Amino acid sequence: MSMRSYCVMGNPVAHSKSPWIHARFAELTGQTLEYGRRLVRIGGFQESIQAFRQEGGHGCNVTLPFKFEAAAFATNPTPRAELAQACNTLRFDDGVVFGDNTDGVGLVTDIVVNAGVPLEGRDLLLIGAGGAAAGVLGPLIAAKPRRILVANRTPERAAILIGRHTVLARRHAVKVTAAGLDTVDGPFDVVINATASSLHQAAVPVHGNVLKPGALACDLMYGEPAQGFLDWAAEHGAVARDGLGMLVEQAAESFFIWRGVRPPSGQVLDELRASMQGS
Ligand code: NAP
Repeated sequence: MSMRSYCVMGNPVAHSKSPWIHARFAELTGQTLEYGRRLVRIGGFQESIQAFRQEGGHGCNVTLPFKFEAAAFATNPTPRAELAQACNTLRFDDGVVFGDNTDGVGLVTDIVVNAGVPLEGRDLLLIGAGGAAAGVLGPLIAAKPRRILVANRTPERAAILIGRHTVLARRHAVKVTAAGLDTVDGPFDVVINATASSLHQAAVPVHGNVLKPGALACDLMYGEPAQGFLDWAAEHGAVARDGLGMLVEQAAESFFIWRGVRPPSGQVLDELRASMQGS
């Protein structure tokens, strides 16, 4: 059989650590594959996907700003991708395009397994209502916390996001509410910053009193841009965590979707973190 080919598509994409992560997964699981990165021009997503399929591509990861277009392109989306209205993983099967969103399960695995913080029965604050928040809300609900408050700068977007998760929230008996950033009550056991505030080097968009003592505070960003949030969390007595674990865990789920094999994601996370600290 010819070597299976995968890639990550985005704009920008040069910074992506996905090629390194998937190459390491393949090495550690004895899988034979190639995984590259493709810069897609804005407005050129469909064209790039078609070209990659024609070249024999088997599947791809999709990153900013094409996750919504990827969801529209998938003929067979998973329920969690439909709820997110965004896909980060596509697999080209015979005549159909399977689409999934592994960001949320990646975050939940990082919190529960890697950080060792249970979510069941806890109080969660999810800050943001953009693509990242949409990708993680469903899996957070499925982890059965006691309640989730979704707070966003534009409260209407938070209300719309929770609106389409009503059935899932009822099924898991989770109280999910929406608010603006200035009306957040608390405190919370777990606070997740899914806004682009760190990316823009803006201040953390909520007050430190949202954190219970010893709470877990996660930013979906990693590397230098996350540092301000991590410092804020530590200053307010929380356990700070960046988005690197989520990045590796969402990749592990994609790898499983393509290859049917679970890679040793914890080991790869440790290696990636060490390589970033050394550089
Ligand atoms: P997006 O769709 O553009 O949404 C941006 C969100 O951030 C919106 O909720 C927006 O509020 C809010 N926001 C932007 N600037 C803000 C500020 N200064 N103060 C308060 N809120 C602000 O972006 P996205 O796709 O959700 O991405 C968000 C972040 O998640 C990015 O930094 C991205 O890199 C990260 N991410 C990480 C991973 C990972 O694997 N670790 C995966 C996915 C995403 P409004 O609605 O009011 O505009």
